[in-house]
Order: sequence, then structure tokens, then C-alpha cells
Amino acid sequence: MLSTLIYRSRARTALRPEDLQRLLKSARERNAALQITGILLFDGVHFVQLIEGPEDAVAALFATIQADPRHCNVVQLLRDHAPAPRFGTGPMALLDRRELEGGALLPALLERMTAKTVASKDDRVVNILQVYAGERWADHIIEGDDAQEWRMAQDPVRENRAEGGFAGHPCQFALQPIVEPRRRKISSFEFLIRSPSGGSPESYFETVPAEQLYLADLQSKAFAFDLVNRLGLQDCKLSINLLPMSLTDVPLAVERLLEQISTHGLNPRQVIVEVTEQQAISRLDAFGAAIVQLRRAGIALAIDDFGAGFAGLSLLAEFQPDKLKIDRKIIQGIHTDGPRQAIVRAIVQACSAMGIIPVAEGVETMEEWCWLQAAGLERFQGYLFARPALNGVPAINWPEPAPLAA
Ligand code: C2E
Ligand code: MN
Ligand code: MN
Repeated sequence: MLSTLIYRSRARTALRPEDLQRLLKSARERNAALQITGILLFDGVHFVQLIEGPEDAVAALFATIQADPRHCNVVQLLRDHAPAPRFGTGPMALLDRRELEGGALLPALLERMTAKTVASKDDRVVNILQVYAGERWADHIIEGDDAQEWRMAQDPVRENRAEGGFAGHPCQFALQPIVEPRRRKISSFEFLIRSPSGGSPESYFETVPAEQLYLADLQSKAFAFDLVNRLGLQDCKLSINLLPMSLTDVPLAVERLLEQISTHGLNPRQVIVEVTEQQAISRLDAFGAAIVQLRRAGIALAIDDFGAGFAGLSLLAEFQPDKLKIDRKIIQGIHTDGPRQAIVRAIVQACSAMGIIPVAEGVETMEEWCWLQAAGLERFQGYLFARPALNGVPAINWPEPAPLAA
């Protein structure tokens, strides 16, 4: 099957025209053997390359390209299929972006294209190449710090386990911080529900009779607030998860929540309620009314898992939360993924226009963090910083500049 791939990257060292010619020559020989053709855009620093050919050959070539030490920040922009080769079987064409404008690229592309019947404006491949050949191409590139320049260092002072028994409790909680690493600040602790044996949220909720699910969800928060006191976290912000139905289907839900907060000597203003649209919110009016009640009591709202499943744009259009937590599935591998980068940039921009603080969930690698930071995100949650700890505060890792290699 024929496949097309476009990526961009940054040369590690300055390339003179003769270096580039040499590079191109060896690439052409290699590509011809693989039946791969394509187009290489270069501006002295950045590459944008299209490769087209049999699917396996393209995948194998791209793996080699990703591992090539002569460039970095390799970001895949497009991977697509086509019924027939767009660019014939000629050798890899080189286009120097310094000599091209968006307008000049199109004729050059069309000349190379074999299937000229394809309306070029409707072709994503052509559109993407035009963007990167145009004058505003740099608008589309965010490059994070080199992950090698950073390392994680453990903060020794925070780790803390609750004393005392939890026997007889129907549920427990694991804590995971949401952090602002540049300020070495913990924005809040998220309370993640666990079964009495420490099992996952699903394994806890499975044991609850269906008709008591929402009540159990709401009442579990009393154990979370108890843990706050046992751990001495009274001065921290506390993020709790609630199903939307726990707010709409339990009579006096918000009153009950406020009661638990005050019984434990806490302040509603330190509480953040995270909701996902796990089941599409069925009673939007009742949900809206609950949100008003939460807001009036001073409780903050976060939309959880934004971009996954149901937690989508219409929820955001309806209810502007204080925080928007971008789902792990969008964050994972962001430093190499053009579509994800475009989506996160748009989310950050929309959040900024609405005064909402975006939070990246599920950050696992330094590379992801470096890119997300460069995109303007300041708050993060994920294994890179801390794993959830059962009945306790986990050890926290902070990024710090790595010592320069000798
Ligand atoms: P969530 O609110 O999005 O919580 C984050 C989940 O991602 C947690 O899973 C956490 O352990 C996990 N996580 C955090 N960092 C990373 C990372 O870097 N990589 C990976 N792979 N995972 C990471 P957990 O604890 O299993 O919770 C799953 C979901 O269960 C939560 O997702 C939340 O939607 C729900 N949940 C948790 N506690 C409650 C609760 O009290 N009530 C309700 N209704 N739902 C809850
Ligand atoms: Mn959550
Ligand atoms: Mn989430």
C-alpha cells in the first residue's frame, strides 16, 4: 500500500550547500532502492520532508530518519494514504525555502505532481507543504528545550504517609500533585479513589451497587477530607473527582459536599471539583444549577480528560471552568506529533482567551515536558513529577538544569 509521510526537524549543525548536496545524494540512492520519492524543503536550519512510497519502506525509512543524529526535534506532520503516487518516481527534489514563497512553491509542487487532476487546494499534502514554504511557517513551529539539558531531582522534604488505620473504610485515596515546576510549587493535590486493598477506581466502583454509585462517590469525599487532616494538608488546594451525576442525581449534593468540607475544618475555596463528561451529561439544566451552587460557595471547577471521549468542546462552550485538564492521550508523545501539537496550541490559546488555566495530564517524559513548556503550559500532572501515593504524599521530582557535560 502506498503511503505518504511528512515530517519536520531541525539540523543540529549549520549545513553548507555542499553538505546538503552530499546528504541528498546518499538519500537519493537509498530511496531509489526502496522505491521512495519525495520532496525536501530546507531553509538552512529546518527540514520539512515529504516521503512517499510503499508503506513498509516509508515506515522503515522514517525510523532511520528519526534516529539520525544530524537533526533533532523530528515531528511527524502527516501520515496518509493515496491511490496512486502523487510525485511520480523521480529522485527526491530539493526546494530551498529561502528562495521560495508560498506562491512560488505551488507551481513547483504541481510540476512535480503526477496526479494533477487532484484539486491541489483540497489536498492536505499540498496544503501542509505550502504552509511550511510560506512566510509564516515559523508560526507553526514550537521547539522545546533539548531534554538533555534537564534532569529530574527528587524533593526530599515532601514525602509523607498518613498514620493510623484505614480498616473499615469503604474506600481509600491516593494523592498525586499537580505541579508548577518552574516555581517549584504544588498547585494542588488530586485525590484518586482506591478500593480498601488499594485497587483502581473501577475496582472500587464495581463493588458499589449501581443505585448507590453517585451517593458513594459523593460520600467517599469525607474520607478524602479526613486524609487531608491526617496528612497536615489543610493549607493546600485539594482536587477531587466527581461524576456529573453525583452532583445532579443525589439530593442536596452540593449541600452535602459543603457540609463535609466544613465538618473537616476546611474551606470551600481550597477545593477544586474535577468533572468529566463520562456519560454525556444527561441533565444539563441540573448540572448547570449544581455548578452555580459550587461557584457561589467558592469551589473551583475543572474539566477533566479534555479531548478524550465526551469531554469536548460543547461542555467547554457551556461551562467555562477555572482549569482545563488536557487528557493524557493528547499529551503522550506530543514532542514528536504535529497534529497533537496543533491541537494543544489551539487549546492553550482558547484557554488564555477565556482566562482558564490549562493543565497537562499524564506527562511521563522530559521531552513532553520541554515541548509543553515551550507551548506555554505551566501546570502539569504525571509520573515524571510524581506517581500517586496511597494514603500519602508521594516523593516529588523537580526538573533542574543538568550539569554541562565536561
Ligand atoms: P483522572 O481524574 O484523569 O486521574 C488521573 C489518572 O491518571 C489517575 O488514574 C492517575 O493515576 C493516572 N496518571 C497520572 N499520571 C499519569 C501518567 O503520567 N501516566 C499514566 N499512564 N497515568 C497517569 P486512576 O487513579 O486510576 O484514576 C482513573 C480515573 O478514575 C480518574 O482519572 C478519574 O476519572 C476517576 N476517579 C478517581 N477518583 C475518583 C473519584 O473519587 N470519583 C470519581 N467519580 N472518579 C474518580
Ligand atoms: Mn481527575
Ligand atoms: Mn484526567
